[in-house]
Amino acid sequence: MRYRTLGETGIEVSELCLGVLTVGPLQEDLSPGEGGRVIRHALERGITFLDTAEAYGTYPHIRAALRGCPVRPVVATKSYAHTGEDMRRSLERARREMDLDVIDLFLLHEQESEATLRGHQQALEFLVEARERGLVRAVGISTHSVRGAVAGALHPLVQVIHPLLNLAGLGIMDGSREQMQAAIALARLRGKGVYAMKALGGGNLISRAREALAFVRSVPFVDAVAVGMKSVDEVELNLAWAEGRTDDELQARVGAQPRRLHVEAWCSGCGSCLEACRYGALSLHDQRVQVDAAGCLLCGYCAGSCPDFCIKVV
Ligand code: SF4
Ligand code: SF4
Repeated sequence: MRYRTLGETGIEVSELCLGVLTVGPLQEDLSPGEGGRVIRHALERGITFLDTAEAYGTYPHIRAALRGCPVRPVVATKSYAHTGEDMRRSLERARREMDLDVIDLFLLHEQESEATLRGHQQALEFLVEARERGLVRAVGISTHSVRGAVAGALHPLVQVIHPLLNLAGLGIMDGSREQMQAAIALARLRGKGVYAMKALGGGNLISRAREALAFVRSVPFVDAVAVGMKSVDEVELNLAWAEGRTDDELQARVGAQPRRLHVEAWCSGCGSCLEACRYGALSLHDQRVQVDAAGCLLCGYCAGSCPDFCIKVV
């Protein structure tokens, strides 16, 4: 495992970051004990970087993983708070529920433009103040858009950017993968740390997982890559790939794990994905998409047609 410093923060992280969303109630819904064991395994195997968010409901899983653990990883979390008071509550909740005195990285969740960032200025200023008081080590933003990444790159208070990047450009709201790479280069020019998300396109690139992971790791100025992992086998497989090893038996085992199509709660019911599915596996009920699991091949073709990146393979 390689370790890198996140921009100019001085914070060292493993190049592979464990995205904790996967084990929580929004996806695999493991108990804190079960999810905690997956996280703990990753920590014991050299992954020293965890990414979560207040909205993921995974603080108890991280707390369980860290109880009695000799490794103190870098923990990143995020909040949608706009105001200083809301962010104060988010920070206190993160510290309390993960049983951590200091949160290493605190990000404003989903900042999609300069205007969004301006709307969260008070929350950002609160985080900077919290950093000065030693409660946070670095502050930043997560974003699914090129405009958001550029806004973060140019903002003097933002230290770390967590942008969406994958080889197919899946989920980038307002541009191409190349434009996102240019925004990342700008961020580095301004001294920001960068760790990418959705390297596997929300699971839609799972059939090309190794290539997809290698692509994001090869992008200049990406310090680390967050990958969701829901089992010890998935941790081991990602570690093997990150370290340039192959393990056909492990890969076959992970490939045989049951998967399903997941539609996020924020689906607007626009219907674009229905047209993209040639198998008739999607339908609309009460403005929400429903998946016919028996008819779905998990090909992922529908995901690219969703303007809001609602469709994931989990
Ligand atoms: S993953 Fe493929 S088969 Fe399943 S709903 Fe989407 S397009 Fe249809
Ligand atoms: S394209 Fe996305 S937002 Fe539109 S109906 Fe399908 S899942 Fe929902």
